[in-house]
Amino acid sequence: MPTFEYAPAPESRAVVDIRNSYGLFVGGEFVDAEGGTAFKTVNPATEEVLAEVAEAGEADVDAAVRAARNAYTRVWSRMSGADRGKYLYRIARIIQERAREFAVLETLDNGKPIRESRDVDVPLVAAHFFYHAGWADKLEYASLGADPRPVGVVGQVIPWNFPLLMLAWKVAPALACGNTVVLKPAETTPLTALLFAEVCQQADLPPGVVNIVTGAGATGQAIVDHPGIDKLAFTGSTAVGKMIARSIAGTRKKATLELGGKAANIVFDDAAIDQAVEGIVDGIFFNQGHVCCAGSRILVQESIAEELDHRLKRRLGTLRVGDPLDKNTDVGAINSRTQLERIEEMVKVGEAEGAERWDSGCDLPVDGFWFRPTVFSNVSQSHRIAQEEIFGPVVSVLTFRTPGEAVAKANNTPYGLSAGIWTEKGSRILWMADQLRAGVVWANTFNKFDPTSPFGGYKESGYGREGGRHGLEAYVKTGAGE
Ligand code: NDP
Repeated sequence: MPTFEYAPAPESRAVVDIRNSYGLFVGGEFVDAEGGTAFKTVNPATEEVLAEVAEAGEADVDAAVRAARNAYTRVWSRMSGADRGKYLYRIARIIQERAREFAVLETLDNGKPIRESRDVDVPLVAAHFFYHAGWADKLEYASLGADPRPVGVVGQVIPWNFPLLMLAWKVAPALACGNTVVLKPAETTPLTALLFAEVCQQADLPPGVVNIVTGAGATGQAIVDHPGIDKLAFTGSTAVGKMIARSIAGTRKKATLELGGKAANIVFDDAAIDQAVEGIVDGIFFNQGHVCCAGSRILVQESIAEELDHRLKRRLGTLRVGDPLDKNTDVGAINSRTQLERIEEMVKVGEAEGAERWDSGCDLPVDGFWFRPTVFSNVSQSHRIAQEEIFGPVVSVLTFRTPGEAVAKANNTPYGLSAGIWTEKGSRILWMADQLRAGVVWANTFNKFDPTSPFGGYKESGYGREGGRHGLEAYVKTGAGE
């Protein structure tokens, strides 16, 4: 099908000022790492080195935990909720003022299209801080239990797919409830967290309330193992989530784990088919499919499977894959070479298992990490591509005949994070939502996020909720406890 030609419309990167090197943010200041080691962060769309970032070792994590404890005991836990709320409102407003800078920096470091960082990630980040600012002085009315009090020092480890948004999901509720934090961004995407550290300075947040330690898995492990941490909040792979659960077993540390997913996006024969196609595109090709709740399995009713296949592939032929800074781009770069290799390996597995592979055939840039929107059909339940998270722009299509079969297939996965239902029938939506073992069920839409709505999983997708009133629960202790 012919597609419209667009003139390039690149967003200017002049709005960001990336330093050559960054230290750790501890006690309100940027400091060098004790061991003096550093790593590079690259733009995945060009492989250009963006900056050198300090790598925190155990001694640095210890200094960050001590700074957080100091700030907790002396200032933050004693401050009134109304005053904490003022800081959160201030941070939210600064993020809005610097929204373009954050969006461009996120796109450069992560590879996601500017359209998404500008219109989804950064507005949601500001919304999370505004929302939690509102709770800070109302915690006793949030039905959390008697006398809600902060937990203490919180260790937070976040992934690379929504770097700033995951920071907001973690930092905003922690601070609103009176805790202080030590946060580690992912190794491939540290830059917006470091810009957030500047926002903390600009907002005059008391030193030590937020500490940011950059590094790889070992830095994360040092946070997990530190005896001064009272609670852990982790988002990432199920494998690392399980390691964390093992590490803290038998300790007094609380934890929330938000892990992987293999969501079913279920299309019934009475669905508005073009809307369902848009929902599928949004469900799996948003953020290059680097989304834990991505609709990576399409379950389509057999009678419309052929038509859906045809319309979906025609639509995918119009997706623009390329320069993430171009405002016309739909699908950006894969976040890292490692992730690209994982996707390529899983796609080979799918072919070897006998599924039928199709891709959009679009041109790809020469440098950087790229993968074409890909559809697997003739997929069966036992295929690895129907069971394991691919975390890329790859979707598997399976069919069903009855609502009962759709439910059985949707639930037949070790995960339980999200699901989507496409049908005109309201009663069927309610029945399905009741049967699906998923933390979030979207009806006639997909990948809709809102700070007022709790998010989290069942089974191997983890435990605990983030967002909404429920998300506050993990950040307070109640009753007569210590
Ligand atoms: P990880 O789970 O390794 O990364 C998540 C975060 O945990 C990162 O900050 C990482 O650091 C850190 N980390 C790694 N090892 C440890 C450890 N032992 N203790 C504490 N923290 C640790 O995900 P990957 O980046 O390796 O991605 C692998 C796969 O995980 C993907 O292909 C995808 O399937 C899935 N994934 C799922 C996500 C989700 O939101 N559900 C998000 C990201 C990945 P660093 O990155 O610096 O190594």
